[in-house]
Amino acid sequence: MLKSISCGGLRAEHAGHTVTLAGWVHRRRDHGNLVFVDLRDRDGVVQVVFNPDVAAQAHEAAQRLRPEWVAQVVGKVACRPAGTENPGLPTGQVEVFADQVTVLSESKTPPFYINEDGEVDELLRLKYRYLDLRRPHMRDLLLLRHKVVKFIRDYLDERDFAEIETPILIKSTPEGARDYVVPSRVHAGKFYALPQSPQQLKQLLMVAGFERYFQIARCFRDEDLRLDRQPEFTQLDLEMSFVDRDDILALIEGLYVSLVKVVAPQMRLRMPIPRLTYAEAMGRYGSDKPDLRFGLELADMTQTLRDTQFNVFRNVIAKGGVVKGIAAPGMAEASRRQTDDLISLAKTHGAGGLVTIGLSKSAASLDALAAEHVRSSAGRNLSVAEVHAMARLAGAKPGDLLLLAAGPANTVNNVLGQLRLHLGHQLGLADANELAFAFILDFPLVEWNEEEKKYDAVHHPFTSPRDEDWPLLESDPGAAKAKAYDLACNGFELAGGSIRIHRRDLQERMFKVLGYSPQQAEARFSQLLEAFNYGAPPHGGFAGGIERLVMVLSPGAKSIRDVMAFPKTQAGVDPLFGAPDVVEDKHLKELHIRIIES
Ligand code: ASP
Repeated sequence: MLKSISCGGLRAEHAGHTVTLAGWVHRRRDHGNLVFVDLRDRDGVVQVVFNPDVAAQAHEAAQRLRPEWVAQVVGKVACRPAGTENPGLPTGQVEVFADQVTVLSESKTPPFYINEDGEVDELLRLKYRYLDLRRPHMRDLLLLRHKVVKFIRDYLDERDFAEIETPILIKSTPEGARDYVVPSRVHAGKFYALPQSPQQLKQLLMVAGFERYFQIARCFRDEDLRLDRQPEFTQLDLEMSFVDRDDILALIEGLYVSLVKVVAPQMRLRMPIPRLTYAEAMGRYGSDKPDLRFGLELADMTQTLRDTQFNVFRNVIAKGGVVKGIAAPGMAEASRRQTDDLISLAKTHGAGGLVTIGLSKSAASLDALAAEHVRSSAGRNLSVAEVHAMARLAGAKPGDLLLLAAGPANTVNNVLGQLRLHLGHQLGLADANELAFAFILDFPLVEWNEEEKKYDAVHHPFTSPRDEDWPLLESDPGAAKAKAYDLACNGFELAGGSIRIHRRDLQERMFKVLGYSPQQAEARFSQLLEAFNYGAPPHGGFAGGIERLVMVLSPGAKSIRDVMAFPKTQAGVDPLFGAPDVVEDKHLKELHIRIIES
């Protein structure tokens, strides 16, 4: 090794030792007489002192050092004189007096500071990702990711799971996105699809008798890259045989809770982990991945307002719609601009409008609420008694602002769910160092696709309905619930899975509900259907996003890209390699592909 110890590993106990260090020049301060160099390696930074009276040659050489040069230093560790320690640095008790320095490689001036945490344009960061990853907080994120994956492997290994790799070049295995395809050179006109997940493969491993499988699996989904998505990402993919739902939930809970305790002990875990049905989560939080770090629950006002004089609400209710609301704490005196912002947010999520009712904090209590305490955007159309009843339902106090939305239940839940999240963050109700997990259960099995006039699987086509819901598959598929579950945390979906269908006749029945003809089902899924002819065990599993998990464990990560070594931009471009790129005509010809200019 070109070093005897890491820069970041030096402590007071090493005082007196002669060490050889190697790393990057993080910072250099020339004090004329003394030159100070902060030398950085993967483990951290240590201060090196070059003193002309101790080593004249080394001092001379140190004057040439520039940020990001790679250098090897031989020197003696000493405790810093009292009063000059740096408590902000793990190596802050010591410094190294250099005897020799060797430049191992020089560096151009980097396009951005490595030694400062300033905002840097992300395109530039991705183009110079190898420099971006030198920044200590980025290094920490990737090392945390390593710890997460290592913990998962050890935890599952101890519980008799076998890690088994599955192919990347395969045939379509749908998770509701578009496939990436790879042309075959040998088989003209044919394509492989990259797996959206190893779903069918892990089920085949259950048929093969492995009983407990997992994989840290790369998944590929050609989605519109809106929001925080990446074309390829990593999942903990897992499958078990001879289990029911609660066995899998217990495994997930054990795994995630122990992982947090070991890998991110600074995070506060909310226990016990609640279990909500999908309907409950949507009704109370307007989301199937609710952020449970704060309350602000949606309150249903429909019954209270059935006979209201306020026509807008009465008409919505008469047509089968709902009126629901939330109470924004302390926002009764919100400015016009603030309420306009809330209204426009509601509208972007499909609301026709939003009724806002400020409850003046001059009311001594909710019971003392009178007309002069109410400032309503619906004027006097809602009576004080109605406002009072709604405030009670929403848990509002004088000083709060009631926000009411009316319309079809799905729209209203969604709108208020978005407002709830917005307010939670704006009012600082969510603690960044807290983790609030929740299991979401009893998802609908299918949902109606209005565009294509057919049912789509909510999870995927291999998910089993609840036993009692099989008869609904023909009579009312939309009412059937699935044996599917998600693990939500802080407003994200961290993992999802289901108990699968393991009988050929039932899987065929399910394909039929999803609009596949027997020929289509055979063409796409014959591998699974055929396997089910040979004794398939009851099985189920889940998959959890690794990037999301690392993100919730490290509130410093701003996007999913921050926890991937070499991510693509939001437009799906890799600025470092310049992918995607054109390929030579000769290559296209071999692949039997002609480009259509558009
Ligand atoms: N394959 C599913 C997914 O990627 C998870 C599962 O059902 O195991 O979402």
